[in-house]
Amino acid sequence: MSEVTVSQFAEVLKVPVDKLLTQLDEAGIKVGGANAIISEEAKMELLTHLRRSHGKDAAEQASAPRKITLQRKVQSEVKVAAAQGRARTVNVEVRSKRTYIKRDVLEEQSRAQTDELEKAQQAAEAARLAAEAEAQRLADLEARERAAEEARLKAAEEARRRTEEEAKRASEAEARAEAERARKAAAATAVRPPPRAPVVEDKTATRYGRSELHVSTDVSRRYKKKGRPQDTRRGGSKGNQSDAKHGFEMPTEPVKREVSVPETITVAELAQKMSVKGSEVIKALMNLGVMATINQVIDQDTAALVVEELGHTIKLVRGDVMEDDLQAGLAEGEEATTRPPVVTIMGHVDHGKTSLLDYIRAAKVAAGEAGGITQHIGAYHVTTPRGIVTFIDTPGHAAFTSMRARGAKATDIVVLVVAADDGVMPQTIEAINHARAAEVPIVVALNKIDKPEADAERVKNELVKHNVIPEEWGGDTMFVSVSAKVGTGVETLLETLLLQAEVLELKATANGPAAGVVLESSIEKGRGVVATVLVKRGTLRQGDIILAGQEYGRVRAMFDERGLATVTAGPSIPVQVLGLSAAPNAGDELLVVENERKAREVALYRQGKFRDVKLARTTQSAEEVFSQMQDAKAQTIQVLIKSDVKGSAEALKDALQKLSTSEVAVKVIGSNVGGITESDVNLASASDARIIAFNVRADATARGMIKDQGIDVRYYSIIYEAIDDVRAALSGMLSPEVRDQIVGTAQVRDVFRSSKFGQVAGCLVIDGFVKRNNPIRVLRDNVVIFEGALESLRRFKDDVAEVRSGTECGIAVKNYNDVRAGDQIECYERVVVTRTL
Ligand code: GDP
Ligand code: MG
Repeated sequence: MSEVTVSQFAEVLKVPVDKLLTQLDEAGIKVGGANAIISEEAKMELLTHLRRSHGKDAAEQASAPRKITLQRKVQSEVKVAAAQGRARTVNVEVRSKRTYIKRDVLEEQSRAQTDELEKAQQAAEAARLAAEAEAQRLADLEARERAAEEARLKAAEEARRRTEEEAKRASEAEARAEAERARKAAAATAVRPPPRAPVVEDKTATRYGRSELHVSTDVSRRYKKKGRPQDTRRGGSKGNQSDAKHGFEMPTEPVKREVSVPETITVAELAQKMSVKGSEVIKALMNLGVMATINQVIDQDTAALVVEELGHTIKLVRGDVMEDDLQAGLAEGEEATTRPPVVTIMGHVDHGKTSLLDYIRAAKVAAGEAGGITQHIGAYHVTTPRGIVTFIDTPGHAAFTSMRARGAKATDIVVLVVAADDGVMPQTIEAINHARAAEVPIVVALNKIDKPEADAERVKNELVKHNVIPEEWGGDTMFVSVSAKVGTGVETLLETLLLQAEVLELKATANGPAAGVVLESSIEKGRGVVATVLVKRGTLRQGDIILAGQEYGRVRAMFDERGLATVTAGPSIPVQVLGLSAAPNAGDELLVVENERKAREVALYRQGKFRDVKLARTTQSAEEVFSQMQDAKAQTIQVLIKSDVKGSAEALKDALQKLSTSEVAVKVIGSNVGGITESDVNLASASDARIIAFNVRADATARGMIKDQGIDVRYYSIIYEAIDDVRAALSGMLSPEVRDQIVGTAQVRDVFRSSKFGQVAGCLVIDGFVKRNNPIRVLRDNVVIFEGALESLRRFKDDVAEVRSGTECGIAVKNYNDVRAGDQIECYERVVVTRTL
């Protein structure tokens, strides 16, 4: 102990040697290094120094009540150090722990003591009764003795009596003492029998000197108290148990938490909410078959499983409270008034949709167009003497199915254009189905009525087959014969639409904050984000704060279909809106929000939500990863879509993705609005993708890069052509199919042996040709029994190349000697068939 090096001492103190050396240095103690011997005096000096510096710290920190414990720790360290010099740190720990636990222990003890008191009182009661009984008995005894020895002891009687009195008093005192003792003793006394024995002993004690007994019980008690054998130790151990409860069991006791989980959550956050390590959550996820990293976002369902797996309860948090708020703001409003109908024109390609719209536009809109600025707005309204009609210009192609479906949602009436010279075609039927699905009434425009081959009656009959029945035939569909070329019937069509609108009793609040739907959006040079919006209710004003899908902004400017600036737009009126932060999606709802903060909040929430949900969806199970590895075998064409308007981009994307089969797939790596830029080219190049440019061109930089890198860029203005091209490319990737084509069949009539060829079958060709060099199959009862080639084909004695139907021949099959009469020999060839999608 006395010969200790600095490093050994450091080990004893459980501090790093370096630190100890610094401390020694600070204390002004000179030692020769880590391996030098440190003297007892030096140790003491160091400790005094440390005490001083710690004491100073403690004084500084005295204002912070939390540090009180620390102070105690230090003091204790000093005390113990002075006494022993070893194990000081240990002692300190214990001490501080004690202070920590004390409160609980005290409570526990006081509770135990209350119990104890009751028991002790009972015990005391029992003791008292026993003592009294004893006293009585002793008195009796005394009386008897007295009676017996009356004469002899008469003189002593008084004294004896006094002695007995004393005995009684003493035994009572003893009982009291016992009660007191019991009260002081630990809870374990409960199992201890009531202290009858000492009293019984007391009885003898009266005889043989109870003081001794008293002393002995006392001593034993004192002994117990001092030495802490059984009894007190039991009490003590009980105390320890309660200690254990507080100091040890608590943390391991499973804590059930209610974990609130929003729609998406990261693994780390989830772990934190459950107070477990991230690795535990990851482990639980793996058990569920989900591979995730600590920062991965998982969806609510997965999180719920994990939470339950780890024994907690889940509270699902709905993230759309904000959204509800928005809707609530719209609920109040004034009386709804009649609004114009919104009409969508649908029909088969080339039946005249565009022509019809153009005619109406030219006649009703273009007339008032200033300077001939024609904006492609995708929607416009016309004013007739009887009212306003709004048209939505949905592209009439099958590729636009998805957009058209959206268009129908914003639509009150569908005008079904059917060319009277062509009749019901696939997209006519599709349009009917869309209108039905949207529960929108149909008005049929029988177009091209100017053509001589137009046959309205035939078309009507065809439509009836699809449950579109004209009013004059007892149905509920209005039919109008028109010519988009000459203009016949167009006025009637407009009137019919207004009539239909009256039947529908279309209403909307005209004032108040506006709500609408985004028909399309694009980014234009010099104008920024341009969204075509159809107002559905309320009035949209310049300066309004708007929220459209995930985007928000302030209406900076509005333009009508003639390209004229306007400051308000009421129900059913389409306008171009400038001022959104980014291009919203076609079909997104547009809302006017009271302030920008709220708009931003919701927009960000939606953005985050969608991003997170997207991320969450990318969480892959091991199974998915595996199946994707297998999928990689499928050939893929990567495509980057660039388009003028968002609607076209989406439609193209949908249509192209639908071309995918199990063997060949189209992967759209991106679809965006705007010209082809440098970053598009980079993306395409990195993903080995081709770029499909729909009504957009590459800028100068991009053009250079396209040339340099040999990127496949195709420009289109017709969606169908784009789809056809991709389809053709996919077809080219399909591995050609090899098919068997039967060339001919010969019937075996007889089998004989030839020395040269072995078995030879005498046959009659019953179908097609048998060719010497083609592969053959031997069939018995129409079942293939052998597949191979011919050894020889002979007609009479000559080898021949082929034998035609109706001719007899001798056939020797190579490597097969079991041809029998009645078998058939089938001659076939392999043909390679190129496949198409
Ligand atoms: P969409 O594909 O349905 O938009 O059809 P279009 O409007 O592009 O018309 C297709 C073709 O039909 C064009 O060549 C038009 O000139 C022609 N067309 C459209 N309407 C009429 C019409 O009422 N009469 C005649 N004769 N031709 C028409
Ligand atoms: Mg068209």
